[in-house]
Amino acid sequence: MTRESLASLPAVDRLLADPALGEQANTHGRRVVTDAVRAELAAVREAVRAGGQPPATAALVGAVVRRVEAASLARLRCVFNLTGTVLHTNLGRATLPEEAIAAMVDAARHPCALEYDIDSGGRGDRDDLVSELLTELTGGEAATVVNNNAAAVFLLLNTLAQRKEVIVSRGELVEIGGAFRVPDIMKRAGARLIEVGCTNRCHARDFEEAIGPRTAVVMKVHTSNYSVEGFTKAVPRAELAAIAHAHSLPFVEDLGSGTLTGLEAWGLPHEPTPREAITAGADLVTFSGDKLLGGPQAGILVGRRELIGKIKKNPLKRVLRVGKITLAGLEAVLRLYRDPDRLPERLEALRLLTRPQGEILAQAQRLQAALAQALADWPLTVSIAPMHSQIGSGSLPVDRLPSAGLLCRPQRKGGTLNRLEKALRGLPVPVIGRIADNALWLDLRCLRPEDEADFAGHLADLAAGRDRAC
Ligand SMILES: *Cc1c(COP(=O)(O)O)cnc(C)c1O
Repeated sequence: MTRESLASLPAVDRLLADPALGEQANTHGRRVVTDAVRAELAAVREAVRAGGQPPATAALVGAVVRRVEAASLARLRCVFNLTGTVLHTNLGRATLPEEAIAAMVDAARHPCALEYDIDSGGRGDRDDLVSELLTELTGGEAATVVNNNAAAVFLLLNTLAQRKEVIVSRGELVEIGGAFRVPDIMKRAGARLIEVGCTNRCHARDFEEAIGPRTAVVMKVHTSNYSVEGFTKAVPRAELAAIAHAHSLPFVEDLGSGTLTGLEAWGLPHEPTPREAITAGADLVTFSGDKLLGGPQAGILVGRRELIGKIKKNPLKRVLRVGKITLAGLEAVLRLYRDPDRLPERLEALRLLTRPQGEILAQAQRLQAALAQALADWPLTVSIAPMHSQIGSGSLPVDRLPSAGLLCRPQRKGGTLNRLEKALRGLPVPVIGRIADNALWLDLRCLRPEDEADFAGHLADLAAGRDRAC
């Protein structure tokens, strides 16, 4: 019986001759469809051997189409970030302003004067595309750009402190999610870390006493993702700069998130800016392009001309440099900072961070019925709730932004929450929320008003797919 059933299954060629699969081959290529046919037939044979019924050809074809479509989905999928964390590292950090997107698309599509001086017709320097803007916006003398801030810190240490010592407060030996740990980067850069002070307190004399003949740099690191509270003391950067300069040493600061303008003007907490650090005496600062700055992934170094010059001569600069698409986006974003008054409307990351709670609440009110209807068969209630968003990416870890969203709370304990979270992830544009306190929280701060209708449409998909999801 099993043998007959197996023999009744269509051959690969016959399936491939099916018009529906021919259409798939035209779109996705013959190879992808052939692989899907083979994989589906193998799975069916297995099922038949285990006593199952052989499927009708139409069902087989349908299963192959689903396989082809699944295999052809881009791996880098767009998602709805309803986690409440605006600059979410795992979801790609800052979303970019339209000006930057347009510049990046243009740079991708056309040849561009990346290292070509249009005035002279001679060779140019790719850093020149953004260094004037960067020095104007920070007060530094010169600037250079690399792949990310980790690369900027690495390159700085490798250039200025290889086989020498770098003094850092014990309270600032931070680990950023993933694999950025100040001590490890230091070691790989060939520099020796000299830790001074205690976790909670560090004094000027701790630095003074640590300076010796092998000291190359005095460094301050932004304690991005944690805060030390209580009986604490850190040496102010101006004092650190004075100590370093008294010994003819450079004082450098890893600022982490580099906002170029005071955020308090828009009701956000203060975050140190490159200009503040440089004014206080920092000789070099480094910061990320895709955190509070709101641009593409990049690491920016700004500071004294002589030090930037040394960094640019390090062969590792070539290894860590950025491409034209990054520079196109970064230039467009930096330009927006020239007009700070309009920044919250134009800089997408800042627009999301400054959305008023009332506006987000109104959005929750518009969407509640649609979500409740999509989840009508689920044993849970959907309510509108005030929430607290986070900036993310290590910025201002203790500050929360008043927000709002939809709260899905199961009526009883069980696997409902995990099933719901999975169903939302399984949508064509996955919806990523956050499970806490026995509920699923969908913070709407990052649901752009222009995407709201799209999102509501997805909720209908959730209803349609509910049998599968449950
Ligand atoms: C985020 C951060 C980094 C790493 O920056 P990337 O752009 O992610 O490479 C380094 N130092 C500090 C203090 C940070 O906050």
